[in-house]
Amino acid sequence: MTDTLIRGGRLVDGPADILVRGDSIERISPPGIIGTGDFQIIDASGKLLHPGLINAHMHGHGNLAKGMGDRWTLELLLTAAPWTNGFRSLEDKYLSTLIGAAEMLLKGCTACYDLMAEFPTPSVEGLEAVGRAYSDAGMRAVVAPMVADLSFFEAIPGLMEALPAPLQKEVERLRLAPYRTSLDHMRKALHGWKFDREAIRPALGPTIPLHCSDEFLTGCGHLAREHGAGLQTHLSESKVQAVSALKKYGKSLAAHMDALGLVGPGFTAAHGVWLDDDDMKRLADRGASVAHNPGSNMRLGSGIADMRRMLECGINVGIGTDGATSSDNLNMYEAMRIASLASKVRGPEWQRWITTREVLEAATAGSARALGFEKVGHLASGYKADIVFLDLGSVNWIPLNHAVNALVHTEDGSAVHSVMVGGRMVVENRKLVNVSLAKLAREAENARERLERLNRDNKALYEKLEPIVGSFCPALARQPLPINRYAAWR
Ligand SMILES: [Zn+2]
Repeated sequence: MTDTLIRGGRLVDGPADILVRGDSIERISPPGIIGTGDFQIIDASGKLLHPGLINAHMHGHGNLAKGMGDRWTLELLLTAAPWTNGFRSLEDKYLSTLIGAAEMLLKGCTACYDLMAEFPTPSVEGLEAVGRAYSDAGMRAVVAPMVADLSFFEAIPGLMEALPAPLQKEVERLRLAPYRTSLDHMRKALHGWKFDREAIRPALGPTIPLHCSDEFLTGCGHLAREHGAGLQTHLSESKVQAVSALKKYGKSLAAHMDALGLVGPGFTAAHGVWLDDDDMKRLADRGASVAHNPGSNMRLGSGIADMRRMLECGINVGIGTDGATSSDNLNMYEAMRIASLASKVRGPEWQRWITTREVLEAATAGSARALGFEKVGHLASGYKADIVFLDLGSVNWIPLNHAVNALVHTEDGSAVHSVMVGGRMVVENRKLVNVSLAKLAREAENARERLERLNRDNKALYEKLEPIVGSFCPALARQPLPINRYAAWR
């Protein structure tokens, strides 16, 4: 790879030239200082350069189910999973992931943490298909099989009993594989990982603590430690989960995960809407991260996580979109804007609102730390050359008063002109370099049509379950939590 000089662009703090050697940034200098040499020149005049945005939480399998639902809570979304994610072939898994990779790259996101699901257990081939999709698109990713050994109906105390007997029988077939089987498949995948871990790395994703037996959670923790892999779980995402945890464990989900030894620097809590102060301090003490997904939390009515309190406690906070079934697009510019706005609707104490600088920091360096990529998330010497080129001729940037404010509050992805990952262009002049969108569209439509047909019964089952889950779970969520525990939440 020849060296590349990115000349004439501007960073958020002012004009600069960037010299890229191999996959990394060699140096950043004031304009014109780096003279001629044996390098290829990229003319970045009229472009704002910012570090690739990093999506700290999403689900690649959700992309083929884009737009399938409107009014659903997290619990209804989980009930809909057999319909939205049923009968997926290996090709579907690849395709669904590739749709997301294409969208993220086109919208300035260069790395993601993907909790991908396979039913009834993850497979080595499935994980490889997902890794291959990111690798083909030219994007960094953490690929974590989202696993459980209890179905949603077994996970929520009292829910199974609330179903009439015939429906109980029907949901029986949603049983997941025994945890030993899933652990065995994940162990094999981790051992035989084929991808360069600097680009595509494996991790573990016990989906929701309530959906996993303690033996399974402990096993996931061992496996993560053994392989130096990260571990991400949906932690205290909905009030139903917070109430259920007290019923099932007699303590919060964070306290339970900590007691099992899972909370450490490689641990990421997705959402954390219902964390109390003790939980946050615990996560901070252990060096853990939170993947903050404010768009999804609003869309599912889960609540608004207190990002300010998380930062005050010393938690590393990254920002995510969540999957296409709960936040529709995978647009990190939108996720940043919502993160900013979400902090503002919490109350009038404006000094506690998250600043645009803090949001941008979370969506780049914070997310990078959550993903476990060390030299990603900054434009600085020694860091990977993951760079987004925004067109300052876009109406979003007319005029340019304050680059960081505009990046977080004004930009919506439509100014993304080019994207570089590890020194290679993956989006050039608004087009993907490695993926044909037209081919992707044809294949996705074929898959969509076939899956709609195959999942007709699963959809019918969802329709039977919706009124029951849709009244049982909100009733559970109306139960009070111990008075001071969640006082910080409004
Ligand atoms: Zn999620």
